[in-house]
Formats: sequence, C-alpha cells, structure tokens
Amino acid sequence: MTSSYLGQLLSESVADHIGATPLVRLNRLPASYGIKAKICAKLEYFNAAGSIKDRIAKRMVEQAERDGLIKPGDTLIEASSGNTGIAIALIATIKGYECIITVPGKTSLEKEQVLHALGAKVVRTPAGVPSESPDSNINVAKRLNEEIPNSWFLNQYDNEENTHAHEYGTSEEIWYQTQGKVDVVIAGVGTGGTVTGIARGLKKNDRDVFIVGVDPVGSILAQPEALNSKISEYKVEGIGYDFVPGVLDQSAPDIWVKTTDEGSFQSARRLAREEGILCGGSSGAAFAGLVQFLEQHPKFNSEDKTIVLVFADGLRNYLAKFAGNKGWNATDLP
Ligand code: PMP
Repeated sequence: MTSSYLGQLLSESVADHIGATPLVRLNRLPASYGIKAKICAKLEYFNAAGSIKDRIAKRMVEQAERDGLIKPGDTLIEASSGNTGIAIALIATIKGYECIITVPGKTSLEKEQVLHALGAKVVRTPAGVPSESPDSNINVAKRLNEEIPNSWFLNQYDNEENTHAHEYGTSEEIWYQTQGKVDVVIAGVGTGGTVTGIARGLKKNDRDVFIVGVDPVGSILAQPEALNSKISEYKVEGIGYDFVPGVLDQSAPDIWVKTTDEGSFQSARRLAREEGILCGGSSGAAFAGLVQFLEQHPKFNSEDKTIVLVFADGLRNYLAKFAGNKGWNATDLP
C-alpha cells in the first residue's frame, strides 16, 4: 500500500473522513443483465458515519457556526429518515453539541441504535402520517426547536448547504475519479440535495452528462407528474416524499425512473452476494433504476459509456430489515 493511497498519517478527528469515497466498478451483476456500459458505484457508506448524508451534516453545521448561529453546548435538531440524523449526531459529539433527531416510524432499528450509541436523543414519530401533519417528524422537529432554548433546526430540506455538499464535493470527486469520462449519473432522490447538486456540479464541466433521478412508487417527486401514482407507503428508506423539498430542483434530472420495494431490495441483496457491495435499499433502487433506464435508452448501453450509480448508505443499516438471516426470510418484505 503506498503512502499516496493512505493519504494523511494522522487525522484530527473521524470527521476528517467524510468525502473522498471510493468509486468502484461493478462486474457480474451488470453482466447478468447484458449491460455493456462500464458501471461504477460511488460507495458512500465509506463515510465516517456511514452514509452520503455525512457530507451535508458537516457542511450545514460548519456554515451555521460561521454564520454565528450556533456554538458548542447548543442543541442541534434535525428531522431525518436516519442517515442525516446519524451524521449530525457524529458531528455534534465531536464538536460538543447536544443533538435531538426526529425519525419517522419506518426508520430501521439499526439506525435508531446508532443514534443512541452516538449520544443523540431520538424521537420516533408515527409511521404513515403525511408530512403536513403536526405529528410528522418534520413538524415535531420544528416544534422542539420552538420549545428548546439555544436549539437550532438544521433543516436539510431547505438548507442550501445540502446541495452545495454535492455541487462542490460529490460531483467534483466523480469528475476526477472518471477522469471526466462520466456519461450518466443515477441517484436516488430524497431531499434532492444529491441529484440537484451533482447535476449542477457536473454540468459546469460537461453539459451533456445525463442525470437520472430515482423515485420510489408511492412518492411524488418524479417528473412528468404522470409517472407518479397516488401517494402510498413503501419500505425503502431515504428516498421519495409526499411533498417537494425546497432544495430539490425537479428539472435537475434529465429523466426520472420509478422503482419498487421489490426491485430495490432484491438488487441490494444481489449486490452483496454477487459484487461484495454492502449497500442499502436505496442503492438497490439506483441499480434497479439503471436497468430501467438502459431499457428505455439503449444508446447508453455500449462499451464506451461510463455510468456512475450513487450508493447512499450501507447494508448494516438494515440487517434485520432485509438482509441477514432474519431479513432474508422476512415475510412482510418483497
Ligand atoms: N438514500 C438514503 C439511504 C438516504 O438516507 C438518502 C437521504 N435522504 C438518500 C438516498 C437521498 O439523498 P438526498 O436527500 O440527497 O436526495
């Protein structure tokens, strides 16, 4: 192993290990679908707290500090399907903040346990309530922010540091790691920070890069509207909403695809088994989105094309949910 691979010798804290994630070629799984294009996955579970949301948590907290809005000892509050919460809890513990995370009912137990391990307070709100309900995790976070002195709601849904993390971070890494040869990027859409920021960042370098947004059936983020059926519950975490977050530019993706729980979980299981990629359900959705996209746009399925999939988090977030012995046999999951 060379020193350039190792990078710096000593890190000041684990928060130094956010970003600069690996870009890794997928082999057997794309081949089994007859995919000829070069498929690469940006493995965001290599971030310090285990997901792509580490990037935005670090930026949102550091910007709020620079703006004089927060100081150590204050309470950071966030509404999160889990990963942003875990990331903020990590930064909070390193920098000396209190931390309260409101998570929706479907958030996996594994994510909740990690939040506890990091010393955060967790408020689990009921599953299946609409976002505008006073009981939704977003509205509970807002209420806590009003009630608790010296607290600050980071609000990933409207905070422009969310998109900046990807415009100036993730997209530049993809450009560098592909040596400017990236043709397509496919990413799951939750707040939309990833897809909006990557589209903005990459299109500065190459206006022809094609961006694909992945939205689960049951969510209403995809465009055109006709792609969306009615709002309904689904099990994949971190992607899709029943409202359009402020940071999402729905015109950022050149095309949207809709994915199912079944396609997402099955792809994630195959990625583990056939590629050794320990990714979560939304990464499975990105792979399922790739298969759909290439069916619709076969001109991108050629050896000279490079397609990057953003794999937002890791399998260990979901061991009891859809992986491992229990998960494999779970009867309520496809
Ligand atoms: N996948 C997972 C597992 C996530 O936690 C998130 C963040 N909500 C996403 C994908 C989507 O990222 P973004 O919020 O940037 O759209």
